[in-house]
Amino acid sequence: MIKLDLTTLLVLTVGINVLIGVFMGALYRLRREQLCFCFWSLSCLVFAAGCLAAGAVAFLPWPWLTVVIAYTLLVLGPLFVLCGMLQFVEGRAASRSLRSLFFGLLVFVPLLAIYRDSPQIPRLMTAAYTAVIFIGAFRLTRRIQPASALPVRALQLFFLTHGALMAVEVVTVFHAWWHRMPLASSPVLEAILVSHILLANCTALTFPLLAFFRSEHQLRILAESDALTGLCNRRAFYSRGTHAFRDAVQAGAPFTVLMIDLDHFKQINDRWGHGVGDDVLRFMARLLREELREDDIVGRIGGEEFAVALPGTTEEQARCISERLRERVFQRGQVIADEPVNLSASIGGVHREERHTSFNDMLMQADSALYSAKGQGRNTVFFAMPRALEA
Ligand code: GH3
Ligand code: MG
Ligand code: MG
Repeated sequence: MIKLDLTTLLVLTVGINVLIGVFMGALYRLRREQLCFCFWSLSCLVFAAGCLAAGAVAFLPWPWLTVVIAYTLLVLGPLFVLCGMLQFVEGRAASRSLRSLFFGLLVFVPLLAIYRDSPQIPRLMTAAYTAVIFIGAFRLTRRIQPASALPVRALQLFFLTHGALMAVEVVTVFHAWWHRMPLASSPVLEAILVSHILLANCTALTFPLLAFFRSEHQLRILAESDALTGLCNRRAFYSRGTHAFRDAVQAGAPFTVLMIDLDHFKQINDRWGHGVGDDVLRFMARLLREELREDDIVGRIGGEEFAVALPGTTEEQARCISERLRERVFQRGQVIADEPVNLSASIGGVHREERHTSFNDMLMQADSALYSAKGQGRNTVFFAMPRALEA
């Protein structure tokens, strides 16, 4: 069986935490606005210092260092983790519960000083304090977006396990204290100590990954969405639409594409200015989001041109949806930004058939259907004729 040597583990832990602390510090220098890196850097460095001070007990009979200073640092480490988490999730490093936890130090440190020679009390207090902090950190992770990202799941697991371990330590130390048993001989406490150190390392290693995942997520949103309306941009619409089209072909499921173009939009711009024109575009995006389902793909693919892919929607349903959309635009778009813009839209639709070999194929047909809708006098819906009826 592998047996971990505690001294080696401590030296490794100090090394890993100092390295990650320096790395986080360097990240903070690059991105001053992201204070979470500063807190996480502090937490790693403080935890490493706490480990060194606590480890010194093997050589130095100085409880002021090996108990009072060491245990304070070992509690400050997770507290800074919590500050960083709060900053990461909410953009601020202060909350009522965090403030209470810091105020708790005013009681915690004097008690440590008083009971510094007791083998159980400082350990009991530190474990209880740390358990509370980790449970708080776990609760905060549930508010990180995207929640399904691997580092978020990993952090949740580490915090929860860490909190539970500390709770077990409280019970074990209390039990030993009650029965006047020596702590040194407890295999449970030794196992908890090793797990505690390993979990602290795992947590520290997850922070850079978490920051990386979030930057990636934010960049993807920036690259895929239209800045004015927040809908998919042209590229994202094509890419998602193509996937949905392939899924529909594979499953033999119905699939419809709509092209929506605002009527005489240039006149709205000319008459009421570009600002009102932009408000009209945002109004249109909001209306599409409200009227369509979560699974529908909605994009702004040109100036005043929107496109919608409706997976699992039959032609009959799509005709109803298009007619409803046209009506809603006409009803709700009479006055926008306090101006009587009298908005209307023309819609061209196409339903998937065997002859459609690609998503692009369908888009082109929806575009010609839109052209026909414009030709019929605008504020109309026109669907491409199914092959069977073409002759
Ligand atoms: P039709 O009924 O035939 O579609 O006529 P239209 O005036 O809507 O179409 P046209 O293509 O002539 O004009 C589109 C206008 O959309 C021209 C352009 O200035 C405007 N536009 C394009 N992008 C934006 C934008 O981001 N904001 C605003 N306010 N206007 C835009
Ligand atoms: Mg137009
Ligand atoms: Mg147009």
